[in-house]
Amino acid sequence: MSKAIFFNLPAHGHVNPSLSVVEELVRRGETIIYYATEEFRSRIEGTGAIFRPYTELPLADVASVSQKPLAHLGVMLLEGSLRLLPQVLEAAQTEKPDYLLVDSMCTWGWQVAEKLHLPAISSVSTFVFTPAAMLGIGLPGDLVKFWWSSRASRAEYKQIAQQLARRYGVSSPGFMDVFCQLGLINLIYTAKQLQPAANTLDDRFKFIGPSITLRQEVSDVRLDTGASKPVIYISLGTVHNANRDFYQTCFKALGENPAYQIVLSIGKNTDIASFTDIPSNFIVRNYVSQLEILQHADLFISHSGMNSVHEALYYGVPLLLVPQIIEQKAVASRVVKNGAGICLDKEKATPTTLRYWVDKLLAEPSFHQNAGRLKDALRAAGGAGQAADEIFQLKQRLAV
Ligand code: UDP
Repeated sequence: MSKAIFFNLPAHGHVNPSLSVVEELVRRGETIIYYATEEFRSRIEGTGAIFRPYTELPLADVASVSQKPLAHLGVMLLEGSLRLLPQVLEAAQTEKPDYLLVDSMCTWGWQVAEKLHLPAISSVSTFVFTPAAMLGIGLPGDLVKFWWSSRASRAEYKQIAQQLARRYGVSSPGFMDVFCQLGLINLIYTAKQLQPAANTLDDRFKFIGPSITLRQEVSDVRLDTGASKPVIYISLGTVHNANRDFYQTCFKALGENPAYQIVLSIGKNTDIASFTDIPSNFIVRNYVSQLEILQHADLFISHSGMNSVHEALYYGVPLLLVPQIIEQKAVASRVVKNGAGICLDKEKATPTTLRYWVDKLLAEPSFHQNAGRLKDALRAAGGAGQAADEIFQLKQRLAV
């Protein structure tokens, strides 16, 4: 059996989908050493992997990452390399792993692979964002804006890349490639139907589907599941959710309509008591057991986060998407393309438009049918078992 090191970012969206794959590898006898931050220790140890903490913060001020322009994230990732390379290079030299598993944005992991000539597998927790895939999303305007607005970050990025080359003799990915670093094989936690420009990707790209495991969460939301009233679930996720205006718009659009039962998760950054006008058909919470609600939901009004969208589709729930940032627009475009929902610009989400689209999504069976098709595709993707099979086939080819 072999030994591998997994280098990941300290972010739930990146660690979570990898856990079932790691668990399966350990079950098959692999030794996996997994680098992340303390916050993730117990979940990583729960897979049977050996947890190792980064001694330096991989991303300075993780909490602010999502508030910064995307371009700045590239700079932060390279700064992470500056801080972490001494530790991770030494670890890899001491442990002598047979191969590496590296998150597609984890620059220091890729630099270890390059420097020590180790075979590496990419763990891709977003879509694969190759240039063709980015064009396939159909957001050229947003991308051009992104490119021009990020000039200062690009200069800073180049400077850190030069520093890394001088200090450690490693190369850095191009400014746009930092979000999509690829390995000998690449594990993607979605179905091929959802990946933009999937036909441009060869068989090194393995679509293994989402890893959805029911969480141990206690729910105090009581839905009338016997009634013929549709259940509508609304959430903007856990990050970009302090959006009182949007919640008020939902109240105005759908409030007091006895035909609908509505569950609204407003996130932990907004005080429920600050709303004085919660309509009687709304159940409002700071956090709900999303997987449980989705099993009863007829429609999900979502910010189009990668996890939320996959969770909804896993249960065949159509989506009304109101993306808050560019990456979420990319995810939304794939849902729309597959006919499983519609996307509304956040500026255009008024009580009238929301009501119109909710009625339409519930009345037209095609949205539900297409969400059902994606449900089947996501469930048919091979999951952790397939990921482990692919890794073992690669090991055989490499004779490790
Ligand atoms: N979530 C939840 N309950 C809530 C709100 C969110 O369980 O009330 C979970 C949801 O199931 C998903 C994650 O939080 O797994 C949100 O991830 P996503 O990628 O959709 O959005 P982000 O929070 O990263 O913007």
